[in-house]
Parts: sequence; structure tokens; C-alpha cells
Amino acid sequence: MIKNTADQAFVREMNLSTALRLIHTQAPISRAQLAVMTGLNKSTISSLVDELLERQLVHETGMNSIGTGRPATLLEINPQAGSIIGVELGVDFVSVAVTDFLGNILWRRREDADPAEGQEKMIAQTLGIVKEAATTCKRKGSRFLGLGLATPGTVDLNEGLLIFAPNLHWRNVPFRKIFSEQTKLKIYVENDANAAAIAEHLFGVARHSKNFIFVFAGVGIGGGLFLNGQLYRGGNGYAGEIGHSPIMAEPSQTVCHCGNRGCWETYANQYSIIQRMQARLEVKRTSIIPRLMAEQNASMSIPLIKQAADAGDIEAIESFSEAGHAMGQGFAGLINIFNPEKIILGGPLSIAWKYLLPGIEETVSRHALPEIDQQAEVLLSSFGPDASLIGAIAIVVDDVLSNPMSAERR
Ligand SMILES: [Zn+2]
Repeated sequence: MIKNTADQAFVREMNLSTALRLIHTQAPISRAQLAVMTGLNKSTISSLVDELLERQLVHETGMNSIGTGRPATLLEINPQAGSIIGVELGVDFVSVAVTDFLGNILWRRREDADPAEGQEKMIAQTLGIVKEAATTCKRKGSRFLGLGLATPGTVDLNEGLLIFAPNLHWRNVPFRKIFSEQTKLKIYVENDANAAAIAEHLFGVARHSKNFIFVFAGVGIGGGLFLNGQLYRGGNGYAGEIGHSPIMAEPSQTVCHCGNRGCWETYANQYSIIQRMQARLEVKRTSIIPRLMAEQNASMSIPLIKQAADAGDIEAIESFSEAGHAMGQGFAGLINIFNPEKIILGGPLSIAWKYLLPGIEETVSRHALPEIDQQAEVLLSSFGPDASLIGAIAIVVDDVLSNPMSAERR
């Protein structure tokens, strides 16, 4: 049977993607090794590699002289395949970075933002930084592969639409439309924790893991569930809203941004740590925090509490420790349900990793079933507070790896 041209093109693109992904995870790798790993014959591999070279997605790098066979030319991803703009829309900040195709940062800027000033202002602020990033890169002459935007909340991937972000109180924001009109770039939109999970899988500590959970901790707590080798999105694409799983609704507990009481994130997010610290100061505990606030003319923040903890401030250390225990409770639940190989913590709160981890580990070992807990590692994100920013980059890279023909020949 003769396959039609559409089928052939489809098979070609699938094979190109398989080869490109293998080069991404296994580099440096030879054509012969690619043939063995894909099961494709050598002439097919040779033709696929030629095409990837023409599209400048890979390049040749030295020779392999190991073994008795003929030395073979090795291939790896071409970092200069193109530039990518990543945008992380935090709730109280905006981060923009430009990277190469391997996620190496070439340019970046982070600005504080105030969601109380409204959606329009925050988007205009973001667009201002994005335009500056684009100008800087155009001067260097590299092609753009796309712009990725990581946002809290639920996202319609096909439409590039933010459906609802409880922590921003934003609904139905057409990010793709807004950003493509203003930048003329191809726009990708993804939930911040999902984006970060993809980053860990492509570039970070989960490169070789098939089952892991990324936990984003900042103003809220979000999860990216990576199960059986792919991101799990759930029935309507909203899976991973782990921060709103109810732990216990106590009347005294802070109301969550989603409107409920007792959500896990209200016990473990950054505001909960500030609250814990404030409560300690109210009962006149000795701490260097008031002095630091006066010296820096700053309000209480996670970086400030971290600075106090680094200076040995017991109250700061204990505030983090309590939050670590609250985090551990949620982690234990995730471990019992999903039996992940790894739980990875990233986002703004991860700067306090070393103060959070002991509490997390203690609570996990108390509440997770021992057999399952033994298999799960709790790890710091490779990108720490930048996990979702690199995630915004990763969603573009991931799409190019799936659709290599989207990068035109040069
Ligand atoms: Zn909630």
C-alpha cells in the first residue's frame, strides 16, 4: 500500500522529533547510536540528521574515539538554534528572561508588581519589559523561536487564555491575543507549576524521571503532576491545583484567595510565614526583624525573614520551620496518592529551602506510608525561585522538540 503524502509528512515529523528528543537527552550522541535507539535504519537517520542540521537545531561536536569501531561524529543540540523569551507573571512580581535553545539565560529583568493597581497596568508593565528584551535580542541577530508565558491559575492551552487566577482575581484574560498583537511572536501560555515541571524534565533535576511532582510555592501553592512520562492535565486541563486541597477548616484560619477556608496553601504559602513571624513579634519575642525593617525601610517579606534566619534569628528560623511542617503535610498526601520518585520544590519560597526542608522531611516521614515514602525524594528545584521563569522558556523548547519543522531552514 502506498501511503499518502500527508501520512509520510506526519511520519517524517514524528521521526524528526524522536531523533531531536534523543539528541536533547543523550547528547553527545552519534548517528549509529541514534539508529540503535530509534530502531530506524542508518540512511533514514542520516537524512533526519541532515534536516535537523539544516534547520540549525543540532550541530556536530567532535568525534567519538571510544571503542574499536571507526570514530563517529557526535551530535548535540545547537544552543544558537534561536532565542526564546520567557515571562513569569508572579502575583507580586514580573520576571522576563531571554535564553538560548538550551535555556541559558542571555538577558533578564525582574520587577515588583502590585496586582492592586489592576490587570491593565500589570500587563502593560510586562509588555514594556518584553519589548526591551526583544529589542536587545534583535540587535544580536538571532531568530526567535517564541515567547512562553507562565501564569498562576487555570489555563486554556489551545486558546492561550487564562481562565481564572484566584490569587490575582483575574478571569478570562486572552494572553496569547494580547502578546501576539504587541510582539508578533508565537505565544505559548501555561500554568506556572506545569511550566516549571516541564523545565525540570527538560533541563533540571527530573531529566530522567517519569513520575514526579513539581510544587510551586509563593503567594499560592501550585502543582505540576508529571506522571508516566508526561504532564497530567486532568479531565478539563485543570489538574494540579494542590494548594486548594482542604486540610482542615478552622474558623480562625485565614480565608484563601479562592474564597474557602482550610486550603493547604493558607498554612504554607509566603503570607502564612509572614503571619507566623508577626504573631511572634506581637508576643514580644526577641528578633532582629524590626531592626532590619527599620534599616532597610522595608515591610516584612520572605527575603527579609530569610536574611534574619541567615543571621541566626531563632524566631525567623522557627517561622520557616513551622511552614515546613505544614508543607510536609501536603507533600505526604501527594506521596501517598501518587507514589512519585521526586517532589521538587521551587518558586519564590524556595529561597528558604534549607530552613523549610527539615520540617518537610520530618512531617513526610510521619505521615506518608513508609513503603511509599522510602521511594520519594524531596528535592530543591534546579532553578529555585526562577523555576516558572525557566518553565516559560521550557514550554517553547518542548514545542520545538515536538515539531522540529516549525523551525525554518536557513
Ligand atoms: Zn483555596
